[in-house]
Amino acid sequence: MDIERPPNLRTPGTEPGSATSPGGAGLGGTPPPINALAELVADLISATGLVPADKLAMVRSAAGMGSFAHALVEQNVASSEGLARTLAARYQLPLVDLALTGVTDEASGEIALHVLERLVAMPYAIEDGTLRVAVADPGNIQGIDELRLATRYPLDIGVAARDDILTEIRRLARASEAFGARAAVQEELESLEEEEEADDLEVEDGISDAPLVRLVNSVIFQAAEDGASDVHFEPQEDSLLVRFRIDGVLQEVQRIPKRMTPGVVTRLKVLAKLDIAERRKPQDGRISLNAAAAGRLLDVRVATLPTVEGESIVMRLLDKSKRAPTLQELGMSDEMRAQLEILIRKPTGALLVCGPTGSGKSTTLYAGLTEINRPEINIITVEDPVEYRLQGVNQVQINTKDVVMVGEIRDGETAKISIEAALTGHLVLSTLHTNDAPQALTRLSEMGVEPFLVGAAVSAVLAQRLARKLCTHCCEMYTPGVDELLKARVSPDIAAASDGMVFYRKKGCPRCNQTGYKGRIGIYQLLTMSEQLESLAVTKASREDIERAAIGEGMRTLWDDGLAKVAAGLTSIEELARVSI
Ligand SMILES: [Zn+2]
Repeated sequence: MDIERPPNLRTPGTEPGSATSPGGAGLGGTPPPINALAELVADLISATGLVPADKLAMVRSAAGMGSFAHALVEQNVASSEGLARTLAARYQLPLVDLALTGVTDEASGEIALHVLERLVAMPYAIEDGTLRVAVADPGNIQGIDELRLATRYPLDIGVAARDDILTEIRRLARASEAFGARAAVQEELESLEEEEEADDLEVEDGISDAPLVRLVNSVIFQAAEDGASDVHFEPQEDSLLVRFRIDGVLQEVQRIPKRMTPGVVTRLKVLAKLDIAERRKPQDGRISLNAAAAGRLLDVRVATLPTVEGESIVMRLLDKSKRAPTLQELGMSDEMRAQLEILIRKPTGALLVCGPTGSGKSTTLYAGLTEINRPEINIITVEDPVEYRLQGVNQVQINTKDVVMVGEIRDGETAKISIEAALTGHLVLSTLHTNDAPQALTRLSEMGVEPFLVGAAVSAVLAQRLARKLCTHCCEMYTPGVDELLKARVSPDIAAASDGMVFYRKKGCPRCNQTGYKGRIGIYQLLTMSEQLESLAVTKASREDIERAAIGEGMRTLWDDGLAKVAAGLTSIEELARVSI
């Protein structure tokens, strides 16, 4: 299949200058008055071209004065997570995954539950004297001010999916009920668990073939084998639900019968060296696995969380032996990889990788580093935490050397340091939290870097997303009609050209846990600095103008690159739409 498509094939909504003007031009009809966030979200979404204008207008009128963002999710136009990602990128706030960070009692108890419910916010940690709070709507300034007044701590705001915040709120509501009015029930539950514990301690005394031990071991082993990053044990009314997070998505793998729940939970707590008698407070521990499970050397962090149905446990699997992948393994087209290899071998200039949280930016940076890592080259990383171990990379020393790696340009100061280093004879590698490559140039000016320095210092910007790869064992071929392609927001010219072509879609089999996907692949956009783009940057041109010029010079949009991967059967149209929004 032809993976190299002409660079200028575009989807209707991403046409420069169309449907991105403020006020929602291009949405059709006369939209009802909506708040600033709705306006912003409408613009962001119409700019992606993934949602047809008429559908957007329909959702918009259905939302009325209410939350447009919420309505989009309700109408299945956008996923709660996708929206959070878009908003986080737009407001330059960190994206928070509450399922991963967990919520400490100390933090959640800081602000009254009814306030959190009304503002759809969740304090999840207290660190370095600040209260970390996840909100669904970062545009609600009044709401955030209200949160500031409600606590004595300074706030550190992040964006989380609305659904996740509501789940936590419901959990807290249930928990407070359980610890208060239903104390009697709780006591009964505990006396039941006490009996099970006795069994379990015997297990520790050496009866290693006990079914319970085998069960727990098999879950951990399976998680390692499936490449899961987290394992969730969630007590339900009738069972213990086991879910794995694979390729960033949580999926159910098993339901353990209710009668075995206390035993499994206790066994996990014993393994993590936690206090098995303590069930009312969250605890943290870790499991050291002696042998490598499924070829992965794992460090397992364990966190417990009391809920009304019992304790839930989240295990995070950190792969200690993880090796940084090469550029080739990341799924870059040969042409783009060749370009990038030239760029990364230049002695000076800044190479920036941008995209939302979780789009694999640092993996790409490390892949680039691996590419040029030779004994004679000295690489300085200013990176915390160190995500991969690269042999020969000097990870602490800060000095005038050849390659400077800045983990993330997050403010004016890191921006200036990076640009200065790039202009004084260093190759600078860094990441930036923007949606696409052209936006990186305008963002640097917004951060206070002199526009004429931006053009001179930046040699290229790579924007990216991570899409799940179709499972090669079960994906099925189909030939979508032109209508179907148009419905999937494929531009009319590509749809017409693709008529009769074979595409692939997900199915599901045991090897991919019935999800239809296994592994992930990058979707990329590479902007290389040119004289024309440099002069545009100097005049502080808009993102749209820079994009139009770059496309004229052969740059592809993320959507185009994704479509080429869909055509090659690597991912599905559905998945491309999920990560592109
Ligand atoms: Zn499969």
